[in-house]
Amino acid sequence: MSHNQQSFSSLACPLCLEAHSKIYFEDKHREYWQCQHCHLVFVPKQFWLSSSDEKALYDLHDNNPQDLGYRRFLSRLSTPMFDLLPETRRGLDFGCGPGPTLSVMFEEQGHTMDVYDLFYYQNRSVFERSYDFICTTEVVEHLQSPQKEIDRLFNLLRPTGLLGIMTKLVIDKSAFARWHYIQDLSHICFFSQDTFRFLATKYHAEVQFIGNDVIILRKN
Ligand SMILES: [Zn+2]
Repeated sequence: MSHNQQSFSSLACPLCLEAHSKIYFEDKHREYWQCQHCHLVFVPKQFWLSSSDEKALYDLHDNNPQDLGYRRFLSRLSTPMFDLLPETRRGLDFGCGPGPTLSVMFEEQGHTMDVYDLFYYQNRSVFERSYDFICTTEVVEHLQSPQKEIDRLFNLLRPTGLLGIMTKLVIDKSAFARWHYIQDLSHICFFSQDTFRFLATKYHAEVQFIGNDVIILRKN
């Protein structure tokens, strides 16, 4: 690897904006850098897919509410969220994809849902509202500007509101090198428990980890 001092110091973290990142891993497609402040591992912009190539990948997903396997996958987030939301509430599914399903599952429990997706449901009115809870499944790893997007979601939450996130977490460098998750070229941000602890501190929120890939932040 040949990374000069200039490239070391000029890469600002897209999550905490600090310019203290180091090369973490490199494969035949991309470089992965890790922020020394919030521990996010991120792919520099020159390795990102074009917007049209990114959408072409998402178009391959034909998830829908009739797909029981997809429902089971989403239940890893929805089940703990249902337990934390005993009454009917207003929620947002951010990044719902082409076949909104999580929103249907919450509606079946009596909640009122809005959906938003950059490519499929550009319903920008959701950003004028406020929510008791927001779910975002398999989304944060795709964000080009995670600081801006997560700030925006947190600002939409009412006090005591919940932000439920599903994303696979970085464990360590040797697991990273063998990880299927980095093979998807639309994945450009890789979070760890430390990164979510950083976010919890930033937002004065409580954080809860459930299983390997579910994170729930509660706004105070
Ligand atoms: Zn950072």
